[in-house]
Amino acid sequence: MSGRSLDAFLERNLEELKEKGLYNEIDPLESPNGPVIRIRGKELINLSSNNYLGLATDERLKKGACEAIHRYGAGAGAVRTINGTLAIHVELEEKLARFKHTEAAIAYQSGFNCNMAAISAVMDKEDAILSDELNHASIIDGCRLSRATILKYPHSDMDALYRLAKEARESGRYKKIMVITDGVFSMDGDVAKLPEIVKIAEEWDLITYVDDAHGSGVMGGGAGTVKHFGLSDRIDFQIGTLSKAVGVVGGYVAGKRKLIDWLKVRSRPFLFSTSLTPGDVGAILVALDLLMESQELNRRLWENGRYLKNGLKELGFDIGNSETPITPVLIGEEEKTQAFSKRLYEEGVYAKGIVFPTVPKGKGRIRNMPTAAHTREMLDQALDVYERVGKELGILR
Ligand SMILES: *Cc1c(COP(=O)(O)O)cnc(C)c1O
Repeated sequence: MSGRSLDAFLERNLEELKEKGLYNEIDPLESPNGPVIRIRGKELINLSSNNYLGLATDERLKKGACEAIHRYGAGAGAVRTINGTLAIHVELEEKLARFKHTEAAIAYQSGFNCNMAAISAVMDKEDAILSDELNHASIIDGCRLSRATILKYPHSDMDALYRLAKEARESGRYKKIMVITDGVFSMDGDVAKLPEIVKIAEEWDLITYVDDAHGSGVMGGGAGTVKHFGLSDRIDFQIGTLSKAVGVVGGYVAGKRKLIDWLKVRSRPFLFSTSLTPGDVGAILVALDLLMESQELNRRLWENGRYLKNGLKELGFDIGNSETPITPVLIGEEEKTQAFSKRLYEEGVYAKGIVFPTVPKGKGRIRNMPTAAHTREMLDQALDVYERVGKELGILR
């Protein structure tokens, strides 16, 4: 058999991860991913999903998916540019443009795919990308794929971004320069300083690219972080995901018609990967209607976020500086963070510990994601567990 070097590589590296406690064991759910989940027969209050508005398990979305499947089938049958564009894909993109207050939009199979598609469709070897150091993995990979020079700036440091933009532009070395950022940073729940970023971009002629995966459905009454700041016509690329607040799967770019036309002929996942399934699209269309008709779910999400934050703060936890419903509880040491998460699980709360290398060393945290679907009783129960475990592990007095 060939591949002995592969065996050695896998054994050595898996062993090392397990020794360091960095090997992630996956817990399969035996229930839908709602506010309460079941794992190994155990009921748990779920504070780990990105299902912000509870739409992933909503009956109306399930019905929308079933109807689209009955009408169009289980699969789209081809990539978008051959004959995998169904009438509902077109309807979806028109609706996304309305949702984001832009001229046009293009849908992809995931948010991750979106960043693989959009960055390299416009950026190339002779260009530079100014990138926040805490940007999502898919942004980093998308930037690499473009072969542009990547210049990182310290997290949300606008003086550093200004200097970098000025230097890059004045060097005369680059044709196009892009600034790229998450709208909402998912580990701390803080929001990008978009008004300052836009000002710097306008002074130094930068292309602006905001990946608002955690902001869509959450910020700006649902339309996202760009809308929250009133910048819908001043950001070139607005990326969103259909997999988090929207509750299904997929991603999109919203922007000027010319940009979207270009992406339709040049972005590789659009050209070479089969389109979103009819069922996905049917459910997403229902979700977008719900989001545009009413802000009730959005209001409940924020109310639950505030309630959980206040409760944890009153107990004496350090919850960082989140500006969104994302609620980190800072623990510190890696082992202590994992021990905390494990005890929460045993007491009936599912909240993942996030440690190095996802966050810096010594900055381990439990990340809590309250949703619109949680009841007050569920949150109170979770707070009780937090109090008990916090005292037991010496984090609370
Ligand atoms: C989650 C996330 C993605 C990936 O979105 P999917 O639709 O799950 O592929 C992309 N970018 C950012 C900033 C994210 O937080």
